[in-house]
Amino acid sequence: MLYMSQDGEKNETGRQQQIIAEVRRNKELREKTYRERALKLFPHVCAKCGREFSGKKLKELTVHHRDHDHDNNPPDGSNWELLCIYCHDNEHSRYLDAEWYGAEAQGGEQEPVSSHKPFSDLAALLKNKE
Ligand SMILES: [Zn+2]
Ligand SMILES: [Zn+2]
Repeated sequence: MLYMSQDGEKNETGRQQQIIAEVRRNKELREKTYRERALKLFPHVCAKCGREFSGKKLKELTVHHRDHDHDNNPPDGSNWELLCIYCHDNEHSRYLDAEWYGAEAQGGEQEPVSSHKPFSDLAALLKNKE
């Protein structure tokens, strides 16, 4: 009873944590839901490199939002694209590149970077030498 005020504080913090946990859970739930929906809608193939995913590997297949808005989840899946984690990564860095360098690179359209990653090739080369 002596620590009533402290208990009050603790409860307040606890309540906030509960709210945060709930928001987080809702977000996770929503992401899980759209992923599951996308996996039901589309064949389990990466839209970029065409690799197929099944079983344990399926978790490497991620849902990409075409307009990069994770809150835009139309039920027909028109904003979704299934991409493997590598192509997904690539997609986002390309998007950023365009955002950052687009203004300076006016004029000639730049040769689109293929799904090829120069640095992963380099890494592979270095690996072979070891
Ligand atoms: Zn891929
Ligand atoms: Zn994405």
